[in-house]
Amino acid sequence: MARYTGAVCRMCRREGHKLFLKGSKCYSEHCPFVARGFAPGQHGQNRKKVSEYGLQLRAKQTAKRYYGVLEGQFYRYFEMATKKPGQPGENMLRLLECRLDNVVYRLGLANSRAEARQLVLHNHFKLNGKKVNIPSLLVKEGDEISVSEKFRQSEKYKAIEEACGSRPVPMWLDMNRETFTGKIVRMPNRDDIDLEVEEHLIVELYSK
Ligand code: SF4
Repeated sequence: MARYTGAVCRMCRREGHKLFLKGSKCYSEHCPFVARGFAPGQHGQNRKKVSEYGLQLRAKQTAKRYYGVLEGQFYRYFEMATKKPGQPGENMLRLLECRLDNVVYRLGLANSRAEARQLVLHNHFKLNGKKVNIPSLLVKEGDEISVSEKFRQSEKYKAIEEACGSRPVPMWLDMNRETFTGKIVRMPNRDDIDLEVEEHLIVELYSK
């Protein structure tokens, strides 16, 4: 599947806030956004009035980049969201939040969503006791995600545990680090999602 392979810190600078795409670096003084919190490029520091379309586009790009999803797939989440009852924008964020790679990241089993995606692809987790390697798979209430026995023994897992083990887990999830198992306690609400984006702008953009 296609994915973005360019410099990810440019994305935070472009969107004007941290997207937390690089694991522990994002929380350190080495985060480029701390020193250069303006858009990249020659005219990055120029102030200019942003059009309504510009605001909508930035909202969409922010959400896409935050979850590491490309345009086609992102639009499919929007289509799915419009078919569900409730606000389409909120539905879309809730769907994105339920992606397996995001859940692995939220459970503190990866430094970033990109790493979570890679670990899922490499069969390092089980979903309800069965091997799974589809990062976009959507979890549901009651599902359990466990770390494979082989991965638990690896140096990589130990490093992740050291770096992420104390990271707070959102209320809709529960992580038992003794049994290496995370559970979906309930489906996420908008309040559970710490993404700074006005999702109605995305809906407006796609509704044109
Ligand atoms: Fe964004 Fe993280 Fe890079 Fe900082 S270190 S600019 S938060 S990806």
